[in-house]
Amino acid sequence: MSFTYQRSSALFKEAQQYIPGGVNSPVRAFNAVGGDPVYVEKAKGAYLHTADGNQLIDYIASWGPMILGHAFEPVVEAVVKATKNGTSYGMPTEIETQIAKLVVSMAPNIDQVRMVNSGTEACMSAVRLARGFTGRDKIIKFAGCYHGHSDSFLIQAGSGAVTFGSPNSPGVTAGTAKDTLLAPYNNLDAVKEIFEKNIEQIACVIIEPIAGNMGCIIPQDGFLEGIRELCDAHGSLFVFDEVMTGFRLAPGGAQETTGVKADIVTYGKVIGGGLPVGAFAARQEIMNHLAPIGPVYQAGTLSGNPLAMSAGLAMLHHLNSNKEVFTSLAKKTEYLHKGIDEALSSKGIDYQINRYGSMMSVHFTDKPVVDFQSAATGNNDWFKKYFHGLLEHGIYLPPSAFESYFLNDALSYADLDKTIHATSDVVGSW
Ligand SMILES: *Cc1c(COP(=O)(O)O)cnc(C)c1O
Repeated sequence: MSFTYQRSSALFKEAQQYIPGGVNSPVRAFNAVGGDPVYVEKAKGAYLHTADGNQLIDYIASWGPMILGHAFEPVVEAVVKATKNGTSYGMPTEIETQIAKLVVSMAPNIDQVRMVNSGTEACMSAVRLARGFTGRDKIIKFAGCYHGHSDSFLIQAGSGAVTFGSPNSPGVTAGTAKDTLLAPYNNLDAVKEIFEKNIEQIACVIIEPIAGNMGCIIPQDGFLEGIRELCDAHGSLFVFDEVMTGFRLAPGGAQETTGVKADIVTYGKVIGGGLPVGAFAARQEIMNHLAPIGPVYQAGTLSGNPLAMSAGLAMLHHLNSNKEVFTSLAKKTEYLHKGIDEALSSKGIDYQINRYGSMMSVHFTDKPVVDFQSAATGNNDWFKKYFHGLLEHGIYLPPSAFESYFLNDALSYADLDKTIHATSDVVGSW
């Protein structure tokens, strides 16, 4: 079986004339793997249907949101129903309280939630709130972690920023960059040292509690706990960026699976059910600093949009009433991990597979991948061959080694077996 993408290539060619690089978000381009991106016409369940009429098994799930598969019926119905009542009012609606109430009931340590339109906005606002609350300027972030494209975070950022060679983007002023202090992931001593050199200056530490934007990287024992202690000792806030992990790993996200408490939590992806939604949440004492009751300003014309809230509410409601989804997803991911592991080990090449819940990544390196530096040692030629080989077999993986696979629960074991066999075929032909 071999797929062609002539129509995708023609569409991409035209797009490049009118859209920078042909895409509205860089991660969609194939720069890291070569070739033209695949155009999608529609998607259902675990499958993407391309503009060329091919069906692909999807391991990206729109970079996370489609945890129950594409066009999940209850979400579609909720959106269709809401649309008929008008698509935006700029006035309060009851559904905003319903989703906030549900989020607060699912996630630990939060009393209130503010809705925004993207994960970027959520993280940017969370940091502003942390600065307003503590009266301090500096933040600590980790190399290879991605918190959206706002200026403060484009300092050794992961995801597309590193895939496209701009982890430190031009356009971010030196003034902004100086307030973002960097530490290597899984290196508690480095965090400690930064705290000691910047006494009473750190507003917050922001982290992906399970990193997913340099491939999937798992926090080592004591790492998150240690940061929690440092934050408490120094009067700083601990911000969990759960844009990827929130409502994907467990109802309470990484706070629940790691048992570490965050002061501010950011959400995105799953929380919008596939519509553009982000959110940030914290306990009352912190959220009281936000406008209109507090001085930290944050706003949005389309924030809490009724279509977006309908999609998000239907999604979260389903996850909350079917908690076995999280175990089912983790089992499927483990099955895939084992299968791919067997397929790759028979070939005698260097590789590492990292997995946490329904997130997973394959790195072609002999070193354990525990931080950005080790993730960057991966052999990109192998990654390219692996990506394109699987694409030819009808399997769509993230087109960069600095991204994690996101499994969706519509994937069947037959789909997973097909993926494993395809992996054997692909590496067998190297
Ligand atoms: C995707 C992502 C973001 C940014 O969210 P957008 O909706 O793309 O702006 C922030 N943080 C993490 C951890 C993410 O995975």
